[in-house]
Amino acid sequence: MLPLSWILGRAWRISSLSCLPGRASRSFPAAGHRRVRAAAALAAAGALAGLLAACSGAPAPAPGGAAAGNGAATGPSGGAGSPASAPSASATAPRRPLAGKVIVVDPGHNGDNWAHPATINRLVNVITESKPCDTTGTETDAGYTEPAFTFNVAIRLARLLRAEGATVILTRTSNHGVGPCITQRAAIGNRAHADAAISIHADGGPPGGSGFDVIEPGLVPGHTDGIVAPSHRLALDIRGAYHRITREPYANYVGHNALDVRTDLGGLNLSTVPKVFIECGNMRNSTDALLLTDPTWRDTAAVAIETAIEQFLETA
Ligand SMILES: [Zn+2]
Repeated sequence: MLPLSWILGRAWRISSLSCLPGRASRSFPAAGHRRVRAAAALAAAGALAGLLAACSGAPAPAPGGAAAGNGAATGPSGGAGSPASAPSASATAPRRPLAGKVIVVDPGHNGDNWAHPATINRLVNVITESKPCDTTGTETDAGYTEPAFTFNVAIRLARLLRAEGATVILTRTSNHGVGPCITQRAAIGNRAHADAAISIHADGGPPGGSGFDVIEPGLVPGHTDGIVAPSHRLALDIRGAYHRITREPYANYVGHNALDVRTDLGGLNLSTVPKVFIECGNMRNSTDALLLTDPTWRDTAAVAIETAIEQFLETA
């Protein structure tokens, strides 16, 4: 499974980069989406179709697997061949650029938060203010929830990152629970000494607004001093790859050129590792909702985020 994931990721990325040059357009290029899907279909032809089908189900990993890296220590390059076979094995072993790296993937909200208001409404200290422990998130007009979306993209992203050799820690390992609190989501990344952390969301903006937005930490003296600069670099890499690969426009109702600096988010204020949030699109906008509910598009979104994280860590 890991080799297939790796092949899919590389093939998709190569096809995306070669046929989809970066362009800072705010318009919505429907034809661009079709090109991405066509390239992806070619790259994923044959046996790889099975992997896509498996992804759409998004099964939850075993709780222990999330923190253990789930295959990060094994894989195509991990075997010890005989002396006679070593040269050819080495020559054909895929590159695992994220080996040794720890990535925290935080799927925003949780599927059962709505049923536990007392738990999620408990106020916690996020340095600059007190905020609820967690929130329910938003949903599309058709009822596709933000927690379901964020968890699904997170699982796809985790697979891609692990296929590149990373140890991936998810802040929640199913969509049938409550929380964790925003303070805990930050603490998980801190305890892991993560090389990068990303919190995945989709926005509940005005129905007339569309596009994506990356939220980065602002300066909170004594707290975020050490992460502002690297988080900004991560934000730029996420913005670039996400726009280029998904063709989603910059948000036209929030932020500035798809970047938003904030000091009111516990997940950022309390982080000691480079971290950003991404609002992948606006669930309240009908055009964005069509994309967010499409499993194939969610795969593309995961590829884009993985590409950005890899770029960030390679240049760190
Ligand atoms: Zn959210």
